[in-house]
Amino acid sequence: MMQESLAEEAAEKVAAALRKTADENEHVKDVLKAFGGILIEQARWAASLELPDGGEAAVDAAGFEKGIPASSREELIRLGGLWKEAARRLIPALEAGFPEVREKFRRIAEVLEGGSLDPDLFFGAAFGGRDGDARAMAERVGVEAELLGFVLTQLAKPVAEKRAAKISLAAAGLSWDRGYCPVCGSLPDLSLLREKEGRRWLRCSFCAALWRFQRLQCPFCGSAEAGDAELFYVEGRETERVEACHGCGRYITEWDVRGMAGEAVLEVAPFRLLHLDVMARKKGFQSAIAGNWAGLSGGDPPAGTANRPV
Ligand SMILES: [Zn+2]
Ligand SMILES: [Zn+2]
Repeated sequence: MMQESLAEEAAEKVAAALRKTADENEHVKDVLKAFGGILIEQARWAASLELPDGGEAAVDAAGFEKGIPASSREELIRLGGLWKEAARRLIPALEAGFPEVREKFRRIAEVLEGGSLDPDLFFGAAFGGRDGDARAMAERVGVEAELLGFVLTQLAKPVAEKRAAKISLAAAGLSWDRGYCPVCGSLPDLSLLREKEGRRWLRCSFCAALWRFQRLQCPFCGSAEAGDAELFYVEGRETERVEACHGCGRYITEWDVRGMAGEAVLEVAPFRLLHLDVMARKKGFQSAIAGNWAGLSGGDPPAGTANRPV
């Protein structure tokens, strides 16, 4: 069947990129062993997933151009009837990747299958600032809230990213010059240089949407002062670097994919660039998405900056 072969192809593309990344980056072999399976299964599901149209075409153009994202994390991650399928498809890969917490993953699979946990309510609480409610729900499941947040976010990724891609498409003709995601409002975790001209794109840490951004501007505080920016990389690997900002103390990793043979598989980028995160933190810079509650928020722009969503 057409869709089955598409799904196989998508899974194999990620698997090949993982093998290449492991070959070229000895130090991430173990991390890739843990995360590889889930990345492959997410790609497989995403390729065969057909989402009903959910009104994504109706982007509020006036609001959007003022800096209001077209959707939100909470909307993107609301899976409803798809949670069970997500669990059946993806939890086995998590169990294989993280055998030391296998029992907890099984417990989560059980409550999803049995319907005693509604993840939509969990995320409603987590994103709605009702931290205590979210933690109480996790306690009833018998796992730490951070772990539950991590697992559910992984399960939802194929759906959330596919929805985000549809919304991006619907907003393609509108202009967006902010440092946070036009779809869900989260901060970026990757900067990409693409195309002959070396155009800069940012990728959302939560929904993987891509958007164009000024080459010489900090996405987090908006500074375009040459004195604020610091670039560093490992000798011989200049296409992978850190762009750090002395204005706000934050950094973003950057991947220049212009001269690359073959397609850049962005799912593996965080692993390829892991050594740069270590480097940036050693120099005292902070990741924009650090310190979030279970990494759930995808990173909110800091309060009081020009780049905060209105
Ligand atoms: Zn986003
Ligand atoms: Zn900055």
